[in-house]
Amino acid sequence: MSNVLVLAEQSHGKLKKATLAAMGAAQQLAKRTGGQVVGLVMGKGVQAAADEMASYGLTVRLADAPVLEHYLAESWTPVVAEAAKAAGATWIVAAATAFGKDLLPRAAARLGAATATEVLSLSGDGANVLLKRPMWAGNVIAEVELATPVKAFTIRPTEFAPAQKAGGGSVTAQPVAVDAGSLKTRFVEFQEVKSERPELTEARVVVAGGRGTKGDFKELEGLADDLGAAVGASRAAVDAGWVPNDWQVGQTGKVVAPELYIAAGISGAIQHVAGMKGAKVIVAINKDPEAPIFQIADYGLVGDLFKAIPELREKVKSGK
Ligand SMILES: Cc1cc2nc3c(=O)[nH]c(=O)nc-3n(C[C@H](O)[C@H](O)[C@H](O)COP(=O)(O)OP(=O)(O)OC[C@H]3O[C@@H](n4cnc5c(N)ncnc54)[C@H](O)[C@@H]3O)c2cc1C
Repeated sequence: MSNVLVLAEQSHGKLKKATLAAMGAAQQLAKRTGGQVVGLVMGKGVQAAADEMASYGLTVRLADAPVLEHYLAESWTPVVAEAAKAAGATWIVAAATAFGKDLLPRAAARLGAATATEVLSLSGDGANVLLKRPMWAGNVIAEVELATPVKAFTIRPTEFAPAQKAGGGSVTAQPVAVDAGSLKTRFVEFQEVKSERPELTEARVVVAGGRGTKGDFKELEGLADDLGAAVGASRAAVDAGWVPNDWQVGQTGKVVAPELYIAAGISGAIQHVAGMKGAKVIVAINKDPEAPIFQIADYGLVGDLFKAIPELREKVKSGK
């Protein structure tokens, strides 16, 4: 059996959007390998997330135990390994989020599985499934084959259509045999950033600023709020200490694919573009007509962002 185990990431009992994309990728893969998709939900008090996963037609394994209350790669890895064996899974899939990037390699090592990261698409079938993945900030696309009996990969959530609701799913409890006393790592604290704005990777609209803002994000954040958008930033703005690290979009930040991405005072360096080129509509505001961002923008405005953004806000308000 060439089943596919897909690892769920949930928050407050709800699956993350990235997990729906990982489930979509897993379903695509299962069609190619002729196997079944099995979901794995881990945590404490996470029945709701397991039920939600099952509503997409998946057989779901639910590992619900106090020792799994807080995510730790060390305690969750044996649960993944156990689920893979019990589910007859030869493939393990997760989204390339901070969670997936942390857990999947460790689980893969435990299972002796070759891995690929940030996979963009699949081809081939049976034992010859090939995975496309970016290298050098997306300038090179490699096609790789995983040659071990068990294989593992993370997918770039913006590149796969999310799974669709379907009947026939079910939830089975998986016993958890992790001894809390034997763990070498310990959960200390989770500081959740509470914001009225949508999460950057889940937002329908993102308004992002770069070095051109000179650190003044006030109007830009105002525009984001007018549009119900998340705020993003280039690495230059983050490195300058103007905005928090988790706003960074790009190769070493978050990969986003909103319906609308407004880039203000961002030049369009390849490392930034790697994180937002999947946006459906890209709007660039930059005073330099030669800025590379205009090469990928659907709409470009050559001008001063300090003038353009307040004007845009007026238009948005009068259009409401
Ligand atoms: C390994 C590596 C990883 C990296 N990862 C990332 C990443 O994840 N994300 C990322 O963003 N970068 C990343 N970078 C950095 C990247 O190469 C660029 O340095 C960075 O994206 C530049 O940010 P910027 O566009 O804000 O600044 P700049 O390149 O300095 O551009 C500022 C722009 O603002 C315009 N401007 C100035 N004033 C105004 C104004 N008043 N109105 C309108 N426009 C104005 C200018 O014309 C200019 O185009 C990485 C680099 C490396 C080497």
